Amino acid sequence: MGGPELEALIQIFAKLPGLGQRSARRIVLRLLQSPDTRMVPLARALADAARAVRSCGDCGNLDSQNPCTICTDTNRDRSIICVVEGVGDLWALERARVHGGLYHVLGGTLSALSGTGPDDLNIGALLDRVAGSQVSEVILALSATVDGATTAHFLAERLAASGVRITRVAQGVPIGGALDVLDDGTLATALLARR
Ligand SMILES: [Zn+2]
Repeated sequence: MGGPELEALIQIFAKLPGLGQRSARRIVLRLLQSPDTRMVPLARALADAARAVRSCGDCGNLDSQNPCTICTDTNRDRSIICVVEGVGDLWALERARVHGGLYHVLGGTLSALSGTGPDDLNIGALLDRVAGSQVSEVILALSATVDGATTAHFLAERLAASGVRITRVAQGVPIGGALDVLDDGTLATALLARR
């Protein structure tokens, strides 16, 4: 129905998180019904973001400036680095406004099952950051899964020699839950109760 352009568009939307064929068709239909007010602005915003947004060379956050807005914010506490699995976790912590320091995005967790080793994650850069700056605390804000715990243990061992204080978010993080699905209050409690 509707030709290859239409079908291609529906298939792209259908692969996005939380969407399927039915919602993809509804979105595409809505866009096509208002090309000037919805479809063209969306196309422009996508092109702009694809061109401008990059991974921060220091922390791994996504931003249109490098180093990112957080890394260059002089009001933030540069002695505390909060380690997270993904940018979604960083965004969740920022929304909850509980962390005034910097971040480090690993890009996943160690996983024997999927064959993800230390070299596949942004770990070397973290060790360099901790060794080469005034960092006094590293908060490991990893999800409470087996892989998250394995990764936290690995990082704690690798960071031990640096002498920094290593803490972990504790209470309120559900087993198997990723940080970005937690509500802000639970997230705040988890971070403040780190040990
Ligand atoms: Zn950054």
